[in-house]
Amino acid sequence: STPVATFCALTKAAEHGLLVKGGGYLEILGKMNTVTLDKTGTITRGEFSVSEFQSFLAEISLETLLYWVSSIECKSSHPIAAPLIQYARSFGVEPRPNEVEDFQNFPGEGIYGKIDGRDIFIGNKRIAIKARSENVPLLPAGANGGKTVVCVFLGETLVGMFSLSDECRDGAAEVIGQLKSLNIKTAMLTGDTLEAAIYADNHIRNSLDLVYAELLPEEKLIIIEELKKEGLTAMVGDGINDAPSLAASDIGISMGISGSALAIETGHIILMSNDIGKIPRAVTLARRGQRKVI
Ligand code: ADP
Ligand code: MG
Repeated sequence: STPVATFCALTKAAEHGLLVKGGGYLEILGKMNTVTLDKTGTITRGEFSVSEFQSFLAEISLETLLYWVSSIECKSSHPIAAPLIQYARSFGVEPRPNEVEDFQNFPGEGIYGKIDGRDIFIGNKRIAIKARSENVPLLPAGANGGKTVVCVFLGETLVGMFSLSDECRDGAAEVIGQLKSLNIKTAMLTGDTLEAAIYADNHIRNSLDLVYAELLPEEKLIIIEELKKEGLTAMVGDGINDAPSLAASDIGISMGISGSALAIETGHIILMSNDIGKIPRAVTLARRGQRKVI
């Protein structure tokens, strides 16, 4: 299309709350085959709250455990970090991030830090491998009601477990429905458990065509590469972990408000108000624009 037509289309998109980093992306948007969405922070609000904490070692007080966990979580920007810190504060525990040494982030798995001379690993069941632990928590199906489970290891020992819940965004079901009526296939790609993924899908009336769970960031990438063989594929995400898949997609769409700086930088299209409802509207807009050009 002409530069003027492109400029008009980009301006129109901006009026609709979408920052599009080039006219080519609008054209691709109109021809999209599949939209993949991250769960946490994209389909859901990414505002976790702790519904339960179980501590397994009598010799370590709840306060000590929460002090270790919250101090290490202060070093993380994952949406799980803030609610865990807040939970510790509700017990009068004040985190001290300066006491944490050797902090490490394992994308899609969890975090590690040394505090009071102790090795602490916090994360999903994959973190057990990092902790060289054989106490991989095996939860019977349905046991946690779709909650996100975060395990705490002291060295090789499983010492505690948090259950957290997060809600789907208002209108998420409608957005998926609209994409479907535009003949676009939808898929959820999440690093969270299958239980949490299915729970979220149930809340949006089982509207997703595909649900992939327990994925590492590099596994999200492999799935996107596979989907790209079938047709143009977009990825919607917000996390630092989502940046590789945003970059690999034909169009990476990042959340403008809650999105991490890296996701915003990597995305080709930014949803300025975090409203995923802008995506089907933008597809309609792009298809109309294309017809005008043709
Ligand atoms: P999603 O794809 O849903 O955005 P991520 O790939 O960001 O998920 O993370 C996957 C899982 O890794 C989380 O559900 C959590 O169990 C674990 N995890 C990641 N970072 C942390 C952290 N800072 N503290 C605890 N657990 C974490
Ligand atoms: Mg995420």
